[in-house]
Amino acid sequence: MSGRCAACKNQRRRCPSDCIFSPYFPANDPERFARVHRIYGGSNVGKMLQQIPSYLREQAANSLYFEAQCRIQDPVYGCAGIISKLYEQINSTEIALAHVQTQIACQKLQVPQAKAESNFNVFPAQNSSTAEFQWESQVPWFN
Ligand SMILES: [Zn+2]
Repeated sequence: MSGRCAACKNQRRRCPSDCIFSPYFPANDPERFARVHRIYGGSNVGKMLQQIPSYLREQAANSLYFEAQCRIQDPVYGCAGIISKLYEQINSTEIALAHVQTQIACQKLQVPQAKAESNFNVFPAQNSSTAEFQWESQVPWFN
């Protein structure tokens, strides 16, 4: 009887050699089955595992366990709450990425603009007017 899987131990029944639970709910982790049982019901989990090909059962059991844990931690949203938070993170990261891409594009545009501006600044300084005219007009005043 000590060779029973966690599900059969929990259900207090004999664990058959072809037990559907035994590969996915080992006796050394009774909490794993307890959580899945609490959320889905042990017999429903057994039915789900029997309805899918054996190569998918481990993934299905892991997924059921994960989803059950999420539902216990967050009874209202379960793993949909995590999905929602991840969507928010993706959204804010995409906004941050767009912001950085915009900054990069502006930097690329500003490099030629900066040259143009420095040329532009040189020309007005040479041609300009206000500073030179004021200076010239003030020179006689000081002399
Ligand atoms: Zn069993």
